[in-house]
Amino acid sequence: MKTKSKKNASHLLPCGRAPIASPTRASDRKTFTQWKAVLDLEIESKGLNKSRPREQILEIIVNQLEHFTVPDLVKAVQKSHPELGAATIYRSIPVLVEAGILLESLSDSSRMAIYEVNSGEHHDHIVCTDCHQIFEFHDERIERAQNELTKKLAFQVISHRHVIYARCDKFSKKA
Ligand SMILES: [Zn+2]
Ligand SMILES: [Zn+2]
Repeated sequence: MKTKSKKNASHLLPCGRAPIASPTRASDRKTFTQWKAVLDLEIESKGLNKSRPREQILEIIVNQLEHFTVPDLVKAVQKSHPELGAATIYRSIPVLVEAGILLESLSDSSRMAIYEVNSGEHHDHIVCTDCHQIFEFHDERIERAQNELTKKLAFQVISHRHVIYARCDKFSKKA
């Protein structure tokens, strides 16, 4: 549902629109091998044991998923590795977040956390309430306005999440 398979990225969405290009350039994204090196460092620095399942989970995330919930991940992982239990998959999440590989970037309409691989570039999200797809955007004017506003209110921003829940124009016109 919320999972957008990269393989189907060229297909039209349920609302009939073509996918919107993400502001994070695909060419800049780290490969599984690069992320695995990051994971290995984290494992070493924490004195944890290397685990093959954790690497298999990371590989599925990097190669198949964009914005996903943990149940989405369990489904995707178990398709390729039915021997991996849900508990193992759940336990890998905090390790991957701590390593800076995964970001919890927003929550869906039922408040379930949605994760994505850390692209290293700030972006915000639009969630389509019709087809449940998640789109990324980056708008300098919005970023600037947020900075000016918080400065005026005497805050130093640590981070922000800007999520727009929206109906799709194309979908409503079709209905
Ligand atoms: Zn932003
Ligand atoms: Zn995103």
